[in-house]
Amino acid sequence: MAKNKVEETVDKAYKTAQLTKNEIIFLLSEKISNLEYLIKKADEKRQEIFGRKVHLRAIIEFSSCCRQNCYYCGLRKDNRSLERYRLTGDEIINTALKAADLGYRTVVLQSGEDNYPAEDLADIIEEIKNRADIAVTLSVGERSFADYLLWEKVGADRYLLKHETADRTLYKKYHPGMNFENRINCLRYLKKIGYQIGSGVIVDLPGQTAETLADDLFLCQDLDLDMMGSGPFIPHRNTPLKDKKTGSVEMTLKVTALSRLLMPKVHIPATTALGTIDPEGRKKALKAGANVIMPNVTDSIYRKKYQIYPNKTSINTDEEYYHSSIAVEINSLGRTIASNKGHSLKIE
Ligand code: SAH
Ligand code: SF4
Repeated sequence: MAKNKVEETVDKAYKTAQLTKNEIIFLLSEKISNLEYLIKKADEKRQEIFGRKVHLRAIIEFSSCCRQNCYYCGLRKDNRSLERYRLTGDEIINTALKAADLGYRTVVLQSGEDNYPAEDLADIIEEIKNRADIAVTLSVGERSFADYLLWEKVGADRYLLKHETADRTLYKKYHPGMNFENRINCLRYLKKIGYQIGSGVIVDLPGQTAETLADDLFLCQDLDLDMMGSGPFIPHRNTPLKDKKTGSVEMTLKVTALSRLLMPKVHIPATTALGTIDPEGRKKALKAGANVIMPNVTDSIYRKKYQIYPNKTSINTDEEYYHSSIAVEINSLGRTIASNKGHSLKIE
């Protein structure tokens, strides 16, 4: 039987890791019920590259202080109703060591765009690297190149900085006082000096179109990412986007599957945001090309204060329980937790 257009386009992506803008827009505009083949081939590609292993990255949300005002985010500076916190160096180090004891091989130190002193963070990274055999990922926003260099010198392995949207007009509208080019320059610099870099998008950000998402995918290809994440937009009541519609699971899965086909070797997380809007969301993403889960290991007293978007806290309250429940989730898909650090395949 002749192949239909979806199959033809997906096969091209599977074989060449390239699609035209119109082809991407075509797939993103199809109903998910017509895209079983896309999801299936993305899953096959994930299996071919990573096998059954799922990498876990433990997130430590070490500060909710932020100097930025991103329109979608609950940590934005103008959200005065949020009680802010900042962990001490010892608290961060102890949380990281506890994560290592639980079996995690990567910790992600994430915060709002806090002015956390660069030297203090360098000491923390150094201490973690000395005391545990784990990879350290940073996700602390835009900082000076000197800070990035300092942290790399003391052993930071990876950096996560989502570009959020490649649509310059939307970027400007939703990031007052910020500059798209600067964000991209940060990513390119981080890559150049030896970090493995992760970026990604917010899916269904109000005003975003399939065309924008195609540009997002091209930008991610161009940045030569090591990791690419897509999470749905979730409105937060104390932000200017409070009345906008929650992003869709379907669109997030389409972007996840296309990311796998267009960037076969990248690590792709089944995002917490997707798990927040759909209890089966993470499983669905793991079956659509994703190979990473990022459990939260922040102490529960702080976790509820790190309200990037609502209901994020309901996911778990106890680290050990969570760790085992994630194993159950992963095993139920016939997959297992990887025991190595899960560095980028591009550097191995
Ligand atoms: N301050 C750092 C890291 C913390 S924010 C930074 O901005 O890079 C981490 C991510 O949360 C952001 O990159 C953004 O993609 C996501 N995020 C924030 N608010 C969100 C929302 N309302 N819905 C979905 N994702 C959101
Ligand atoms: Fe701050 Fe990051 Fe939220 Fe923007 S997305 S307000 S930089 S925490």
